[in-house]
Amino acid sequence: MRKYAIGIDIGGTNTCIGLIDEFGDCVAETSFKTAPFAKADDFLVKVADETQAIINDNAIEILGVGVGAPNANYYSGLIEFAPNLPWDGIIKIREFLSQKLDRKVIITNDANAAAIGERIYGGAKGLNDFLMITLGTGVGSGFVVNGALAYGHDGFAGELGHTIIDPDGRKCACGRCGCLETYCSATGVVRTIKSFLSESNEESILRNIDLNKIEAKDLSLAAKQGDKLSIEIFDYTARLLGLSIANAVAISSPSHVFLFGGLSSAGELLLTPLKKWTEHYMLNIFKNKVKIELSQLPNNKAALLGAAALIFDDCK
Ligand SMILES: [Zn+2]
Repeated sequence: MRKYAIGIDIGGTNTCIGLIDEFGDCVAETSFKTAPFAKADDFLVKVADETQAIINDNAIEILGVGVGAPNANYYSGLIEFAPNLPWDGIIKIREFLSQKLDRKVIITNDANAAAIGERIYGGAKGLNDFLMITLGTGVGSGFVVNGALAYGHDGFAGELGHTIIDPDGRKCACGRCGCLETYCSATGVVRTIKSFLSESNEESILRNIDLNKIEAKDLSLAAKQGDKLSIEIFDYTARLLGLSIANAVAISSPSHVFLFGGLSSAGELLLTPLKKWTEHYMLNIFKNKVKIELSQLPNNKAALLGAAALIFDDCK
């Protein structure tokens, strides 16, 4: 008998709920806007109702419900002070959903869920030590060490995006300066584009784009056409990300690093300089041992698969 789990991906803009089988097929799916709910309690009722509707419609028994959400804490079952969600404070999501649905509920942040998704459905099958880096609106990460996702003593382990790479660097949304995220997230790359354009007189395709509308994907398009300044920006970004990966490798010694989302869609434009800089900064005992690869999760379903994978991973 095929096994099923519910995956729920809660984002600042949309919330998606999917019925996923053990092979990664999404059997049914629904989504709605996150923001219109004035109170977190109203939002939770909607999540529970939509989830129950999917279970009823498909008349399938599920193993449990996995939730990936910003600042979701695996241990406490709470979403705590998530800056990208419209509600302040603490949201008791696990308690609410497990009571309402009468099912096992596991929650964690979206990058950790992506790491487990990679292990169950993607390129990390059979790997015991790897690092997942999600390059999106922010920079997230999940560290799998000795076969288990590292949650740390408080459930928040693996915040590579908020490790400081320059104490005098750019202001970060977390209130500090110089976090990796301020350079390698989609908005970080846009900041780099603007500073390169203002500090250089070099001709560039990027100069034809309205600076207020410029996006990270414009950089890939320009670099693919051989735009020199765009290629320099990729190199600059890859150097900082490579530095962070080399530091992370020294801590947890992964065999693989997977990249997902945003900038990773640039493929070799990012990978080639990233591999060069990672090796450049790598401690000699780790040199030429760590593979850097793109995630094998399908882009449009990765968050749902990751959330559902929390349940399948737990049942192994
Ligand atoms: Zn930060």
